[in-house]
Amino acid sequence: MSAEYVALSFFKTNRIDYYFKKPYIYFPCPHCCEEAKMFAENATWECMECNGKGTLITLMELLNKKKKEQKILQNVKVYNPTKEIQQIRLMFSKLKKQDSAEIDRLYQKVDELLSYFDEKLKGP
Ligand SMILES: [Zn+2]
Repeated sequence: MSAEYVALSFFKTNRIDYYFKKPYIYFPCPHCCEEAKMFAENATWECMECNGKGTLITLMELLNKKKKEQKILQNVKVYNPTKEIQQIRLMFSKLKKQDSAEIDRLYQKVDELLSYFDEKLKGP
């Protein structure tokens, strides 16, 4: 069983919000609730915000010991930019059907901006 599979199962079964963008799994940091990222291949993680870091094992131990932290973490959403872009595009495509020139122009501008960031997010 790969570390990636075990890590993804862990987030799923503990109902912790995450998204997987190879090779990283993004999830809320157990210390500060900001975005932390786990390298899926070896399940080590770090938080850029508070410099918290560890392995999947330390994460499991932490959440087992501190039920309160676990509850807090289960209520934090991690911002998934790819999903947000899809939702914004969908919302706009529904709005566009209302046939307003202003919405069209706005859509064009936002679409260009999203495409720009979409490319950036794909990364190397
Ligand atoms: Zn943190």
